[in-house]
Amino acid sequence: MGRMLALAGYPLDMRFRFFDPAPDAPAGQIAEHVAGRYNDFAALESFARGVDTITYEFENVPVEAARFLDERVRVFPPPAALSVSQDRLAEKNAFKAQGIPTAPYEAVDTWEGLLEAIERMGLPTVLKTRRMGYDGKGQVVLRSMEDAKGALESLGRQPLILEGFVPFSRELSIISVRDRDGKTAFYPLVENHHREGILRLSLAPAPNLSADLQAEAEGYASKMLESLQYVGVLAIELFEVEGRLLANEMAPRVHNSGHWTIEGAETSQFENHLRAITGLPLGSTAPVGCSAMINIIGEMPEPAKVLAVPGAHLHLYGKAPRRGRKLGHITLRANEVQTLRANMKVLGVSRTTDALCDK
Ligand code: AMP
Repeated sequence: MGRMLALAGYPLDMRFRFFDPAPDAPAGQIAEHVAGRYNDFAALESFARGVDTITYEFENVPVEAARFLDERVRVFPPPAALSVSQDRLAEKNAFKAQGIPTAPYEAVDTWEGLLEAIERMGLPTVLKTRRMGYDGKGQVVLRSMEDAKGALESLGRQPLILEGFVPFSRELSIISVRDRDGKTAFYPLVENHHREGILRLSLAPAPNLSADLQAEAEGYASKMLESLQYVGVLAIELFEVEGRLLANEMAPRVHNSGHWTIEGAETSQFENHLRAITGLPLGSTAPVGCSAMINIIGEMPEPAKVLAVPGAHLHLYGKAPRRGRKLGHITLRANEVQTLRANMKVLGVSRTTDALCDK
């Protein structure tokens, strides 16, 4: 994602320097790269020297590192947002404080605590680690009391959160952005499809997107942006249940479900993030036709085959193939839903998009 940020910033004559502990970080292929550990404050200090603004695109950057940098150079989004997003309990509490509905939840630290929480909540539930969970890792669905014992053992002795299982009809996300003057903008809701906990496909705008649903999502995003005095792109993942939205989690950064905006919106999430944090006016978030974003996971497709599909745009991240690793994405863009649907079929993507783009 750092690479995509830099690629969006070069036409605006921005320069980039990246901090990433991995010596082969993809961003290093196109910009200056400092490979240091996040707790190496001397390395952070020299990284920050001569830089105007610092941002992050990874939510497990230690908050201490972000705070240390923020004392030297402005860091956007604010480190407080990073801190909230790193702890599922703090995150759910932050939604609750703003009156944003979520699944029922309780902090759980012991076996007895888990039993009591299950008694109150009933089954099924989802037991998650409070920290460091991503791409479906660090969570177990509990359908019976037998599941509970195994889950507690597999997740290890660490702070946990138990959530009610949400019988959602679909998963959506809203990508929002707030600039340094407090102006906000919102992309249309996106429909997301996961397998094995990993995002596979995003449809944008979400099929059957009503003005009411969009307004509800924008209302929730506005509350989070304001309460955190946020600057930059904020993504919120949502469940749709009987036509209403529940917030699942937030990401204080550009987001995988916003990659379609590179070709599918007037201004991409990457450019709008950069505009926001550098004090430039935000660009239009209007979609251009309709898009399907397909993640490339684990195995590289043949570029010539992908690019032979009309409306296909291929983004490869310069990463070595590995099982379960996001290696790139394809965005299919079209002016009409029929064309998009036909081209998805050519590419071998089967999800129905009947109502996509019907606005
Ligand atoms: P998360 O790491 O919270 O984004 O969860 C990964 C995926 O697990 C989500 O995209 C959902 O498909 C599913 N999931 C997470 N929490 C719940 C829940 N409380 N109820 C039902 N499904 C959930």
